[in-house]
Amino acid sequence: MARDYYGILGVDRNATDSEIKKAYRKLARKYHPDVNPGEEAAEKFREASVAHEVLTDPDKRRIVDMGGDPMEQGGGAGHPGGFGGSGGLGDIFDAFFGGGGASRGPRSRVQPGSDTLWRTSITLEDAYTGTKKDLTLDTAVLCTHCHGSGSESGKKPHTCGTCHGSGEIQEVQRSFLGNVMTSRPCHTCDGTGEVIPDPCQECSGDGRVRARRDIVANIPAGIQSGMRIRMAGQGEVGSGGGPAGDLYIEVMVRPHAVFTRDGDNLHASIRVPMIDAALGTELEVESLTGEEVTVTIPAGTQPNDVITMEGEGMTRLRSEGRGDLMAHVDLFVPTELDEHTRELLEKIRDHRSDNSSVHREGDDNSGFFDKIKNRFRTK
Ligand SMILES: [Zn+2]
Ligand SMILES: [Zn+2]
Repeated sequence: MARDYYGILGVDRNATDSEIKKAYRKLARKYHPDVNPGEEAAEKFREASVAHEVLTDPDKRRIVDMGGDPMEQGGGAGHPGGFGGSGGLGDIFDAFFGGGGASRGPRSRVQPGSDTLWRTSITLEDAYTGTKKDLTLDTAVLCTHCHGSGSESGKKPHTCGTCHGSGEIQEVQRSFLGNVMTSRPCHTCDGTGEVIPDPCQECSGDGRVRARRDIVANIPAGIQSGMRIRMAGQGEVGSGGGPAGDLYIEVMVRPHAVFTRDGDNLHASIRVPMIDAALGTELEVESLTGEEVTVTIPAGTQPNDVITMEGEGMTRLRSEGRGDLMAHVDLFVPTELDEHTRELLEKIRDHRSDNSSVHREGDDNSGFFDKIKNRFRTK
């Protein structure tokens, strides 16, 4: 069961790194053993520390967002990242102590197949609508000649003559500690304890062959960069016809020239002429999907003001609706004035009322502004 790391810290699933850090510091101040002795507080402190560690690590957080638990063995949701076998502690002990007679017995000839990871990149528009990706995999598939049995004639495997079916060869080695019994996998049968008398000519007894497969991956609308889609049973078939592993499609969303994404929200810069900012107006801009969107510029709009257009952002993954579109105002001051305009502006200056120089405070949106490269295309 995956732990609810967001719940532990009491933050939203879209929480930023700084919100997560803030929530953690708040809990740490409350439950730190120096401040709050006692078992329950200590446990809460430990929980919060783990949640902080997980949610500030992009890889771990991704696993959580996919419904897994990165702090559990194998990572929960189909162990993304755990491709190929990982040597457990048991192997290390065996290497040092040679098993010491604690025989593990023959390993099964039929093994589960490994997972496959496929990386692909899509545009922000594709992430908005969802898309399909055709991919061609070089992978291991079931040998159709022997149907995975590995035998040419279909004869049953017989017991290995070298290890007598145990899958291991025991040896006594002399060392400074005295005689040490070691065991290693039998080479004749590859540790399986059995031998196929007439191996299949197509797969040499492995039960699977390499082949090229075409797969269509469905990429859901609202997918975030770095997420993985799991396609169960689409990985490699195992040896001896063992069950196939899973296929993971890791999706990178390419940056967009105009729109910057932050979770489900989109940000873009909008160029507003000075006079329009002062008097207020409506501007037509092009949305991510190329549709016209009307942006209402209120009178008295200031540079770097953010105008939020609700529901014009990214499609939300696995939930209803869309995020918001934030237009960051880039005030446009004319650089070349014709004679008439100059005269008009000078007249305005002469008649300007004092309150036009009042400065508004608390408008600091500079953080996002730095990342935005281009403007909306103004119609
Ligand atoms: Zn075969
Ligand atoms: Zn053997």
